[in-house]
Amino acid sequence: MSLQYAALLTDIFNDVPAGMPDDMIDRLIAGEATKKDAQVLLRCDPTLIFKLADRLRATLAGNTATYVVNRNINFSDQCIGTCRFCAFKGHEGFRMTTGEIIDRAGEAVRSGATEVCIQGGLMEDMFIEDYCSILDGIKSRFPQLHIHAFSPMEVFHMARNSKTGIIETLRELKRAGLDTMPGTAAEILSDRVRRKICPDKLTAEQWTEVIMAAHREGIPTTATMMYGHIETEEERIDHILKIRDIQVATGGFTEFVPLPFMPYNNPLGKELMAAGVYATTGVEDLIVHAMARILLFPHVKNIQGSWVKLGKKLSQFSLLCGVNDLGGTLVEERISKSAGAANGEYMPPEEFEWIIRGAGREPVRRDTLYRHLDNKNLI
Ligand code: SF4
Repeated sequence: MSLQYAALLTDIFNDVPAGMPDDMIDRLIAGEATKKDAQVLLRCDPTLIFKLADRLRATLAGNTATYVVNRNINFSDQCIGTCRFCAFKGHEGFRMTTGEIIDRAGEAVRSGATEVCIQGGLMEDMFIEDYCSILDGIKSRFPQLHIHAFSPMEVFHMARNSKTGIIETLRELKRAGLDTMPGTAAEILSDRVRRKICPDKLTAEQWTEVIMAAHREGIPTTATMMYGHIETEEERIDHILKIRDIQVATGGFTEFVPLPFMPYNNPLGKELMAAGVYATTGVEDLIVHAMARILLFPHVKNIQGSWVKLGKKLSQFSLLCGVNDLGGTLVEERISKSAGAANGEYMPPEEFEWIIRGAGREPVRRDTLYRHLDNKNLI
């Protein structure tokens, strides 16, 4: 980091209240912000947090903002899970066959998608070979299509069902064509919270174990955090710092995606709303995204503002608060929609470009690994 840049950052803090540690900026720039630093920042005016996050974003992403042309395939809503925030399970009672999943991947290729994102409920009768036949069925027909599939919870579930170890399971999946994994099911990496909102899900330590094993097996993942329910400010900070620690150890995260809790059509949301606690506010969402940029800088290069969760206009504004990516075009996103998200079906590339340009950034289409694509290497 140049001295000139450090001076610019220092400039942001001119109006900062007394009590901010003098050496905090050095730690932020070095990627070593502490929990205390985060707590101090959170007491500042939000516009200062946004400005700082935006400056840090600019050093990594310049004037560009990215999106990916992809298709979601949520192949079943049948699930033995008991997550109290879930509005997806049993919503429509459907289950696709492997053939139907492959057909949808074919549609994705024909529509110009570079990625399919495949996730489903946890079914008692799905074993490692069933998941592998989905991967192999798609990869053998569409080798150019990037398969982003199966959360750490699904990997944990298939390993448990098939009585195989996590590493062996990941190796089988990779052999069958798995390219990357979504880092969903992280929720908040605190067992206090997990016991209350998803008691049957893998523990924080097990999530970390699956993710780190995936990274070591050469399977990059995303990282997520579902916030805005019963977690404390400290638990949010701990979660983000845990993601940073993992990234420092493995380098396997492609992006971090904060996901605000959707309170509709699920027991947890109902309980919270009855107590007068509604969905997160827009300002809170922007602060979380900005803090993620600051605390993960420079280790996790990409912070995504999910247009499905934030809505198109707030996700556009998040580009001014530390975010450099708006996620994927999707088609058929069912999970957020069932929990009350107004968006989620599909946003065409042209609209992504419109939104990004409207924020003063240069839109860039990317692949799952954040390689920039031009017309020549689009599939
Ligand atoms: S969140 Fe996923 S694992 Fe939990 S109940 Fe819903 S579908 Fe099942």
